Amino acid sequence: MEADKMYSLPDLPYAYNALAPHISEDQLKLHHQKHHMAYVNGANAVLEKLDKARKENADLDFKATLKELSFHVGGFKLHTLFWENMAPAGNGGGGQPKGELLKVINGEFGKFERFKKEFTMTATSVEGSGWAALTFCRKTRRPLIMQLEKHNVNLIPGFEVLLVLDVWEHAYYLDYKNDRAKFVEAFWNIVNWDAVNKRTEMLLKK
Ligand code: FE
Repeated sequence: MEADKMYSLPDLPYAYNALAPHISEDQLKLHHQKHHMAYVNGANAVLEKLDKARKENADLDFKATLKELSFHVGGFKLHTLFWENMAPAGNGGGGQPKGELLKVINGEFGKFERFKKEFTMTATSVEGSGWAALTFCRKTRRPLIMQLEKHNVNLIPGFEVLLVLDVWEHAYYLDYKNDRAKFVEAFWNIVNWDAVNKRTEMLLKK
């Protein structure tokens, strides 16, 4: 397959040690190089399988194949967004939302603290492996918090993603063992509100 028709692992927008102590160098390296990479490889393998079957006009187990595709592409996309919506604490990370994003959050949740509480509860209560996501509906012009299981379950089509938090155990076990709540609390120190605001502004212009 041509290289540009395949997924590839994006570079992180910061060094592996940049998010410490909230996410350690070892934890971030493992998450990016092993876990995110596994979704890149997984997505490409399914695409190759589809290409091959089409070339040979062969049958496929579509139920299993497409389930796998959704899982790996979902994992690939969410991790890419996740890296982008973080920055080193005190150097782009942490603090409060700003600009249009702040207006969107206040308009829906009343105040930032209420949003933070809802997002935290969403993240800590994911059953098994999954994500918390702040998304936006262009139809109602309202933000919506989603709780995704795995990388693809409970996803509502057509919503644009503003902010995500990975709460798979692979995101935090080296740093926090099984204490997901502690990781979620630490996440607020490294949210790149500027990046999330830019995404919001672009979306509002559409
Ligand atoms: Fe992950």
